[in-house]
Amino acid sequence: MIFGIDGLSPTPAELRRPEEAVLSTLGGVSMVWSGRAATALYWAYRIARNCGSIVAMPEIIVPAISCLTPATCAHAAGCQVRFADVDPESGMITLDTVRKCWTAQTKAVVFIHLYGQTADLAPLAAWCREQGIILIEDLAQAQGARLPGGAPAGSVGELVVYSFNRTKILEAGGGAMVFRSQSLADLWREIVWPEASQPEMRPDVRALLALSQRDLYHALISLRRLELVPDISSAFLGLLPAYSSLYLQPLRDPVLLSASWDTVPHALEERERNAAVYSSRLHGGPWQLLDGWRSSGVCWRYTLLVDSPDRLVEFTNAIRKSGFFASNLYWPLNELLRPEDPCPSAESFGRRVVNLWVDQTVTPARASSCADSLLTHAPLLAAADLS
Ligand SMILES: *Cc1c(COP(=O)(O)O)cnc(C)c1O
Repeated sequence: MIFGIDGLSPTPAELRRPEEAVLSTLGGVSMVWSGRAATALYWAYRIARNCGSIVAMPEIIVPAISCLTPATCAHAAGCQVRFADVDPESGMITLDTVRKCWTAQTKAVVFIHLYGQTADLAPLAAWCREQGIILIEDLAQAQGARLPGGAPAGSVGELVVYSFNRTKILEAGGGAMVFRSQSLADLWREIVWPEASQPEMRPDVRALLALSQRDLYHALISLRRLELVPDISSAFLGLLPAYSSLYLQPLRDPVLLSASWDTVPHALEERERNAAVYSSRLHGGPWQLLDGWRSSGVCWRYTLLVDSPDRLVEFTNAIRKSGFFASNLYWPLNELLRPEDPCPSAESFGRRVVNLWVDQTVTPARASSCADSLLTHAPLLAAADLS
């Protein structure tokens, strides 16, 4: 069962209060709940392809730096993804990089508030309106964030997508989509609702399939990082349809989601406190620190871009060996799904990025010890400059 606000698909009673709060904060007209952000994105793309003139192969512009989901869902929804390059400082798309991907087939642009960062979306939103295409804001990593002018993230896009799943700001399980206009909410009811009831996949089957997709992603990216093969897209695109049943998932536990809703402000404060520790300790190392979390108020992961990309894996492994979580897997997705779209800034960003944990598994003391570990291993990065 998939839940929505109006007569056809009632919002579960427990989620009425969060729903009203979201709608009034963001200025939305309606909200639907799902099991995943992936489901909401899939719905958004189904709506987008039915907006305006019908084209043979609708195109969705997504950021080249992202997790897999926003791009793979577009394929599942029968759209072609086009990859916009990113700002080298933030890893997020800009109006300039988006315009380069536009064609007469373009139906939507997905702006991802990457790692909790935000940007002034007014120019992009105005351009999207002029072209008659839908701006989708993906808040999976930025629930509760502020835009540069102080307005809430999610107050600009025509459709706004949330994730409440593992690793996100709120981890109670679920996803949601907010509609800014009644016409898009009506399209959801006409197009998506009739096809929405899916048989639930067995949890063990789902887990194995998700693991398979993650392993495939890791395996292919390692081949590219080592530059052992020129192309991984044919392998990835060939296997992609096998994973499409992962994206549609109903909301399981509205009670738990509702009960944890009010913990968000406290969780964000704790994240900021940890980020401030990293920031003060790591200043001046052989890396660049991303500090967009300061103005947005949300730090999803604390991110640095190392100066020596060829030592990234060795450096990350050293941090992990000393007992801390660190990840380096944000590879430019155009290489997996559409190598014809060149994204040089994303390529450089993806080879340099390290993410450190700031969530409830980390205390300020632990963040400080993690920073010590980075400083101890910093010579690994400097060594590359000498060779
Ligand atoms: C995690 C994530 C998603 C997918 O969220 P699910 O709820 O797991 O489907 C989508 N977009 C971004 C930016 C994410 O980080």
